[in-house]
Amino acid sequence: MDIKVVRKIDVVAPLTALTFDDGPHPVFTPRALEILAKHGVNATFFFPGSRVERLGELVKQVQDAGHEIGAHGYSHKNLVSLGYGGAYEELSKAQEALKLATGRTSPYLRPPYGAYNQMVLKAAGECGFQYSVMWNVDPRDYASAPGAILQSVLKDVAPGNIILFHEVTPSTTAALDLVIKSITDRGLRLGTITELFDSLGKPELAGEPTPFRELRLRTPLMRGPDVETVQMALNGRGYDPGKLDGMYGQQTSMAVKHFQLDFDLEPTGSVTREVCGRLGVAIRKA
Ligand SMILES: [Zn+2]
Repeated sequence: MDIKVVRKIDVVAPLTALTFDDGPHPVFTPRALEILAKHGVNATFFFPGSRVERLGELVKQVQDAGHEIGAHGYSHKNLVSLGYGGAYEELSKAQEALKLATGRTSPYLRPPYGAYNQMVLKAAGECGFQYSVMWNVDPRDYASAPGAILQSVLKDVAPGNIILFHEVTPSTTAALDLVIKSITDRGLRLGTITELFDSLGKPELAGEPTPFRELRLRTPLMRGPDVETVQMALNGRGYDPGKLDGMYGQQTSMAVKHFQLDFDLEPTGSVTREVCGRLGVAIRKA
């Protein structure tokens, strides 16, 4: 029973996954939680089981704040080097530690050092994991200054990508606020691995690209995934489009007008290609 390895998730929605390894940390985890809460962003945390055992209350705090928790081995050993029996033991202990601290095991494993092979995947499957979650955006935050972390993330960030952070380094927490702000300024939303998978489950978000349609207020209301994409982008940039329900109502049109005024565009309340460009979103006809 092998598990799937994912490096990115082919979402259509403007969603990017934010992940943290190696915690929890008594100082840096609470700080990260504060910053994430300020932006209303949820992330996926991969904890080594031994730290989960030692810092169970902090783990619970992460969970209660709405974040997602996966396993990062038990003692942060390279699983490939342990043989099947050793890898199985590490991974089953990791699941037990999570179960004790959070009440549930996790479908998500991030192997320490990103090291895996068929044997590791098989052992992980036997221990109840379904995905080995890798990454494709690595700012090497443990070895970089905050400014370099920001630059590196912005260079690579795109829908469906998985960003790798570590919550045990001061420069990561120092960069985090600005990283989140800059990413949302681009019209992207940050979320958990499950949020990305869930957006795939929405059939209206999948399918072949179709031509652009201009969005505007009319009766009956225009509706569809393109409307939702615009609403999420507005929301991410601090404009209030009302409910993120995929319906182009009064409040969404108002939010677009405010956005247009701020960017010296005519405040028509219609989402033209130009508005999409400024919002940093690509939309398609419903
Ligand atoms: Zn690690």
